[in-house]
Formats: sequence, C-alpha cells, structure tokens
Amino acid sequence: MNAPLPVHLLPEIAQRDTPAALIDALKTRFAAQCSTALVVREQHGRDESSFAAPPPAAVVFAESTQDVADAVKLASQHNVPVIPFGVGTSLEGHLLAVQGGISIDVSRMNQVLHINAEDLTVTVQPGVTRKQLNEAIKSTGLFFPIDPGADATLGGMSATRASGTNAVRYGTMRENVLALEVVTASGEVIRTGTRAKKSSAGYDLTRLMVGSEGTLGVITEVTVRLYPLPEAISAAVCFFPSIEAAVRTTIEVIQLGVPIARVELIDHNTVRMVNAHSKLTLREEPMLLMEFHGSPSGVKEQAELVQELASSHGGQAFEWASTPEERTRLWAARHNAYFAAIQSRPGCRAISTDTCVPISRLADCLLASVAEVDASGLPYFLVGHVGDGNFHFGYLIDPDDAREREVAEGLNHQLVSRALALEGTCTGEHGVGLHKMDFLLTEAGDGAVEMMRTIKRALDPKNIMNPGKIFSL
Ligand SMILES: Cc1cc2nc3c(=O)[nH]c(=O)nc-3n(C[C@H](O)[C@H](O)[C@H](O)COP(=O)(O)OP(=O)(O)OC[C@H]3O[C@@H](n4cnc5c(N)ncnc54)[C@H](O)[C@@H]3O)c2cc1C
Repeated sequence: MNAPLPVHLLPEIAQRDTPAALIDALKTRFAAQCSTALVVREQHGRDESSFAAPPPAAVVFAESTQDVADAVKLASQHNVPVIPFGVGTSLEGHLLAVQGGISIDVSRMNQVLHINAEDLTVTVQPGVTRKQLNEAIKSTGLFFPIDPGADATLGGMSATRASGTNAVRYGTMRENVLALEVVTASGEVIRTGTRAKKSSAGYDLTRLMVGSEGTLGVITEVTVRLYPLPEAISAAVCFFPSIEAAVRTTIEVIQLGVPIARVELIDHNTVRMVNAHSKLTLREEPMLLMEFHGSPSGVKEQAELVQELASSHGGQAFEWASTPEERTRLWAARHNAYFAAIQSRPGCRAISTDTCVPISRLADCLLASVAEVDASGLPYFLVGHVGDGNFHFGYLIDPDDAREREVAEGLNHQLVSRALALEGTCTGEHGVGLHKMDFLLTEAGDGAVEMMRTIKRALDPKNIMNPGKIFSL
C-alpha cells in the first residue's frame, strides 16, 4: 500500500455518474469489444505517475474510426467523460479517470495505411507504435525519427507532443505531424491538414490537436513526415570529468550549429545503473552519448569538430560504436535507463521531471538542480536530451514513505521554478496531465490559460473529453 500523497498534491476527484443505460448501450453496440472487468478498467485508469483515482467504468476497444465515433456519440448523449488510451506510457496522470467515464483504447487500430515513399510521408492508424512503424517502412530506405523511451503509439505521441533523442536534429511531433483525422467531442469526424509540406489555409488545427492530451477529440489517423536513412551513421561515447564539462561541450556544439543527430547526457550514477542492467562496462563518469548522420565526409567532419570541443573541456577520447549492433546496444541501454534505475532500488517508484530551458541556460539550470538533489540524499537518475536543453531527473522513492514523496515533489517544484525563471518550460515533452496544471498556470499566465479554456468550451461544450487535465474549467 503506497503512502498517501500530501493533501496539496492530491488530484481533484469529482466523479460523474456513468448511467447503466450507457453501459447497456455500449455492450449492445460493441459486444466483446467493451469490457467492464475490474482488471481491464484498472489497467486503463493508471499510468507511471504517483496519482491514483478510481478506474473508468468501462473500456471500449475501438477497431475503426466508426467505432470511436459511435462510442463518443453514446458518451456524449449521457454527458459521460471519454478518455482516449494508446498504450498507457504517459507519466503525468494523463489517463486517470478523475471525473469517471469510459476509456477508448485505440491500440487495435494499428494499421499502417499509406506509405508515400516518394513524398516522404506515411499515414497510420493511431494505435501504430513507433517501433512498428519503423519495421513497416524499413524496406523503403526511410525512417521515422521520433523515439520516446517507451514504444508509444503515434496517436498518444501526437496527443502529448512527444519527442525523444532525435529531436535535436529532426524536431518533435509538433514539426512532424502533417495531418490528422479526429473524432470530435460530438462524434463528428474531421480532417486537419494535408500531405503538403506547408500550408497557409486557415487556423492550424493540426497543431491545436497536437499536444491536446485527449481533451479536444480522439485522433483516429495520423500523417507524419519520414526521412531518408542517412548514408553514414556514427555513434560515440565521450566521458567527462564533471557534468558541467559535458554540458558546456553540448552548449558549444549547438551554438556552433553542428547538425548533430543525438546528444544525450547520462550522469555517472546512471551509467552505473545502466551498466548493471544492460551488462555494459562503460566508465562510471558523466558521459555524452552522441550520434552523427550524413554523408561519410560530413559525419567525419562533425565528429572531428565535436571531439575538439569535448577535449577542450577535458572530455576523454571518443569511444566509437563501430558496428550497427554495438550502436543499437548502446541506444537500447540509453532507452532502458528508466528501467535500469528502477531496478537499482527494488520496490521503488520513479518521480520523473521534465524541464526544458534555452540552451544558454542549460548549465545554470542543471548544475543547481544536481546540487539540490545531491543535498537531499534521495537516490536518483539523470538523463537528458541536452542538445534541446531538456533533461529528466527520476527521484527513486520508496512509495510507502510519505516523507520521501514530499521531498521528491519539493525537488520537482524547485526545479520547475528554476526552469521557468530561466525562461524555460515546465514540460519539454511529457505534457501537463494532472501533475503540471499549477505549473502551466505559472508558465503561461491567466490570460493564455483562459484562452485555452475558451477553445475547450467551444469545441467540447459538455466537457466530456478527458476532463480535469491540463487546466481546471
Ligand atoms: C520509460 C519511459 C520513457 C519515456 N520517454 C519519453 C521521451 O523520451 N519523450 C517523450 O516525449 N515521452 C516519453 N515518455 C512518455 C510517453 O511515452 C509519451 O508521453 C507517449 O507519447 C505516450 O504515448 P502512449 O501511446 O503511451 O499514450 P497514452 O499514455 O495511452 O496517452 C497519453 C495521452 O494521450 C491521450 N491519447 C492517447 N491516444 C490518443 C488518441 N488516439 N487521440 C487523442 N488522445 C490520445 C490520452 O488520453 C492521454 O492524455 C516516456 C515514458 C516512459 C514510461
């Protein structure tokens, strides 16, 4: 049994009634595609956050856009909340049924619909995961670069405006989603955007939906950009005498405009956890894991320049991942850092942070935060998409210890406040969900949040789409 969260951190639970008539109607329309089994509801009513709420009243496993539209229409008739569900890897309480309602799971909508290799675009159903997409297009010589640590769905990634290790070169979901099909809060099916690379046609509804966290509609199709697989790829690790030296190197790399494809910071502590988990023998020092994409000569040039910058900050000679297998092993280890950390303290829970600051402020923000968490005595991991100014601490707390929770939440609060003071954001890629609602208000201000509320009220007058998330109404 987890220790209760401190009162000021508890989410507002205001369950609305889910009438038996709605459950009957869903069972009639969806038969075995609708479940009210407790274990299924519980699996859809939680995520990796430390919050808890009663599970949704039912889960509909949609298999088509029509299924989604029919489920939303039935919920709307009964004023019952609808929570879209991808694969449930979000981290900030996005999926919790704080106002009750039903979950619409779109993971069975997992077809890659149209690969337009000549235009470098692909259209998929929302339940396709990033790894599934790359597998489906591998014979085309193209790839999809956005890679959150978990194998998330394209629908969920669009809804959270996700990114990952490649964002420094290829951007986030914001830059890479071209068009969407969406079921609105009234159950109508609309399309936003086209496959054209750019457009000046009216309000940009695609970008309104990207990052809306299921609060404006259910995404039922996603068209994204693809990229040619680079002619040459080189990955290298470089070890530094301090986190500061690694961060200063990164800042210079970005400020000089080196088109580096990936530059990830892993602190010495986390390298130790990764070594134990992934059976590696990396030196247990602050490290940058980097990747260069381009022509063979371009890659060589970039690597030489970065090597020079690194050694001016005390970075030790690069260790190259010479084979694709070795490269894949290193990046898999990076992506598994979260699980490596959890394994390092059996029974623990990780409270993840996600700030992002302008690159020139990265050292100030990161170093002060490291000093703070070191002083707290809490075990933690630290990884960062530092080329974007984005980094994550994971505070590894004993979930039964209320004091540790309070300390972790306090550290997160101080970190976010520092990032905002440095003109950064409370969330670089995970989204607001429940956890960051107060921070969004501080970051965006009353006027901007009120404009978001006005949009929400206009598009979802009954407030049924994932209510109680991003901001209170
Ligand atoms: C180990 C680990 C590492 C991670 N690393 C990263 C990272 O590097 N970068 C990053 O950005 N994130 C990261 N995340 C967070 C998470 O993977 C992303 O937020 C991801 O985009 C969520 O996708 P999902 O399919 O799991 O969505 P879910 O968790 O199922 O849903 C997320 C939100 O999107 C909404 N939603 C889902 N599908 C739809 C849809 N079809 N239409 C409308 N709304 C929808 C939900 O209602 C919810 O609000 C990580 C998570 C874990 C556990």
